[in-house]
Amino acid sequence: MKKQTILVTGAAGFLASHLCDALLSEGHSVIGVDNLSTGNMANLRHLSGEARFSFQEADICATFDPGPVEYVFNFASPASPVDYARLGVETLMVGSVGTTNTLETARKYNAKYLHASTSECYGDPEVHPQPESYWGRVNPIGPRSVYDEAKRFSEAMIMAYHRYYGVDTRMVRIFNTYGPRLQANDGRVVSNLMMQALRGEDLTIYGTGSQTRSFCYVSDLIEGILRLSRSEEHLPVNIGNPEEWTILECARQVLEVTGSKSRITFAPLPQDDPTQRKPDIAKAKKLLGWEPRVSLREGLVLSLPYFEGCIQASSR
Ligand code: UDP
Repeated sequence: MKKQTILVTGAAGFLASHLCDALLSEGHSVIGVDNLSTGNMANLRHLSGEARFSFQEADICATFDPGPVEYVFNFASPASPVDYARLGVETLMVGSVGTTNTLETARKYNAKYLHASTSECYGDPEVHPQPESYWGRVNPIGPRSVYDEAKRFSEAMIMAYHRYYGVDTRMVRIFNTYGPRLQANDGRVVSNLMMQALRGEDLTIYGTGSQTRSFCYVSDLIEGILRLSRSEEHLPVNIGNPEEWTILECARQVLEVTGSKSRITFAPLPQDDPTQRKPDIAKAKKLLGWEPRVSLREGLVLSLPYFEGCIQASSR
């Protein structure tokens, strides 16, 4: 494989930091960009001595030019419901102006392009599991709309750059993913439940816990994204783990893996919280020969040392 110079936006975030590691291990050079609004430099600290990695603290909504690059991976955006609720306008801006700026970079340097889209494009879905052909059921003015519509706008703009300007684009619709470097305090279900279980606090379940999610371990997700990046598919591809869990079942898995004696408590369900979510991955299987390998149980065991480290760091 030819060694490339690659731009990764949102590089200090959970997924993009793992992506930087994977690209560097393949021998590429990586320019990471992040405005650190939700990213964490601790996710990149291990790369400080890596000559093929450089980091720029920059907001992709402002004009920026990384110099010539051969691939753009656009991963910049707040992504947890708590973060995008706090940063609503910023989330809409990065998904619109920010994405457009990264597309301009790809156009200028004739670079290939891959965008991190989301299962949230399907909203609260009436089709189950969700294939890429499903257009979704999104509330355009609800609390989640700042994220959902930003990501949907990104997809529209990416298709426009592809159709009108011939930019060589790809997009992955990412379903719930977890693993080391998931921000311990970002309010997502796996980070909340793991931290609560390890601290011996009550596990907070929103609603009855009968809503479902399908959790993908980070290494599986990154492998799927790398395969997509080498494909010629311009339409969206779901990458996620089709093993579907109720949130209550997920909490029980967390209790087993941590050996915690925490109790389960119930809190109100946030507005527009999707009742079910499960990827149809037939397209990824056929097109990329990809499917996830790590079960939720195995992934939680693999994530345990990271969350234990977060507990230690927070008690220092
Ligand atoms: N959730 C929960 N307890 C928590 C955090 C989240 O029951 O402490 C629920 C949330 O209401 C949703 C699911 O877990 O139904 C997944 O939430 P998350 O914030 O991880 O991401 P989402 O899939 O909703 O974007």
